[in-house]
Amino acid sequence: MIKRVEKSEEEWRELLDPETFAVARKGGTERAFTGRYHDHHEPGVYRCACCGTELFDSEAKYDSGSGWPSFTRPIDPGHVNAREDLSHGMRRVEILCAACDAHLGHVFPDGPADEGGLRFCVNSASLHFQHREDGE
Ligand code: FE
Repeated sequence: MIKRVEKSEEEWRELLDPETFAVARKGGTERAFTGRYHDHHEPGVYRCACCGTELFDSEAKYDSGSGWPSFTRPIDPGHVNAREDLSHGMRRVEILCAACDAHLGHVFPDGPADEGGLRFCVNSASLHFQHREDGE
């Protein structure tokens, strides 16, 4: 089981920059093609911007053309939770950090078929990239 990280809204507000707070703690969405990682191709690991949990590996990242970082799978199925999201008149599946419940984005069934058919569509603001050093 993943180690839970529990903080109050006020604690998160003090810890995070305003954009990360708005997206990850309040369920916001950054505008397409504006985030720091949608066109980012370095090797490494994308961690939760709130609690540091490893969420996605660059090896699962692909260019979906959506304007948001897109992955075919999480780094570990136990690190990302999913729940139904009926907001904005749509039926979608929200994805969250399993440790701290940060809003990450949504998962859609239109990913690459040969990689499982899922597209984990994530806000850059909910991620913090850690570069993989040679030999690691
Ligand atoms: Fe987290």
